[in-house]
Amino acid sequence: MVDHPRSRVRLAQTVAVGVVCALAGSIAARPIGSDAASSTRTASHARSVIFINGDGMSAAQREAGRLSLAGLDGRLQMDQLPVSGNLTTDARDPEEYVTDSAAGASAWSTGQKTYNGAISVDLDGNPLPIIGDLARRSGKATGLVTTAQVTDATPAAFFSQTADRGSQDEIARQFLEESKPDVILGGGEDWWYPAGNAGAYPDQPAQDPTEASKGTKGNLVAEAKRLGYTYAPTAARLEAAQGRKLLGLFSNEEMFQQRAEGEGDVYSPVVPLATMTSKALSVVSKDKQGFFLLVEEEGVDEFAHENNGAKMLYSMKQLEAAVAVARQYVAKHPDTLLIIAGDHECGGLTVEDDSATDESRTGASAEDGPFPIKGSDKTFTMDWTTGSHTDAPVPVSAVGPGARRLTGQHPNTYVHDILARALG
Ligand SMILES: [Zn+2]
Repeated sequence: MVDHPRSRVRLAQTVAVGVVCALAGSIAARPIGSDAASSTRTASHARSVIFINGDGMSAAQREAGRLSLAGLDGRLQMDQLPVSGNLTTDARDPEEYVTDSAAGASAWSTGQKTYNGAISVDLDGNPLPIIGDLARRSGKATGLVTTAQVTDATPAAFFSQTADRGSQDEIARQFLEESKPDVILGGGEDWWYPAGNAGAYPDQPAQDPTEASKGTKGNLVAEAKRLGYTYAPTAARLEAAQGRKLLGLFSNEEMFQQRAEGEGDVYSPVVPLATMTSKALSVVSKDKQGFFLLVEEEGVDEFAHENNGAKMLYSMKQLEAAVAVARQYVAKHPDTLLIIAGDHECGGLTVEDDSATDESRTGASAEDGPFPIKGSDKTFTMDWTTGSHTDAPVPVSAVGPGARRLTGQHPNTYVHDILARALG
């Protein structure tokens, strides 16, 4: 855990915004204040930003999703955005260069490469300015929606700073007391209650007896209510929730059980990602100055770790439904920048014909499938090469003000520049 004086963070944020604005001016190659420079600035600014992470999603995960959900002649929702590019994802960990979700999301949120496990801190553990704070200081509502713990690495990096991604109760505390996102929806209730207080979801459930409340920051759900959040632990209470601040926790940990096929793998969430996304949009869109909303489907990564192709595809389906909700919003609000990316690849996945002679047909990296191709009598096979992350670059798709800058291949830190420019 890092002790960080917020004043220093604020100062650094001011400097960072200055750098971004200067950069915008130099790209326009005209004096700041000229019509061209100001129109570039206007074109890059978005009233609102929706950023969607398919955790662990690279080109092969998207292609498997396309074959399964859209078919050979079809396109995914996310593939229909007009702008696309690629992001490299390598981290600056002292011991490995393939990123984890913490360093990957920190690159998006801060524009700096850091070590695996870092939540928006630099290599020395110093906190860095984060997008969640930038958006709030710009007067916008902010929110996060995920099928992981709400305090898992990706949302954490946008809304907190800590040296260790495992400090999820500290991350929850920072949400409430420092970054103050207006909407917090997802899993991870265990980190919001102290041991002995089960909360809405019982400790030691049959699906995973290791799950139990374990927070060390007191009863943070009670604190959230004191701070004005409406608390929703069920789908019905989420639907009924009113007000401008909303906390919904719908599982002890992730909103699924990530295991290999037939070994207790479960994905039947209390509230689907698309429903959470829709509710979050209905709340944050009330802000007249716009919003920043982070949406994440965690199952793509977690089931790829397990080489569980069927549940990875189901996670892609959940993500696609959330993307559809976001696209519907953007169609009515074209001043919204929508970006969809993955933070890294997971599983070393390839998508293949079903072949009896493939060299990796048996053993730990056995092929997974066959899976039907929608609208076709053909099938495809998923072949995994690892249960870990890989360095494969990830596609990024976008629409809205500033989106076209994502064309081409960029480091993942470039996403930060786009977000900061859009929100600043
Ligand atoms: Zn992972």
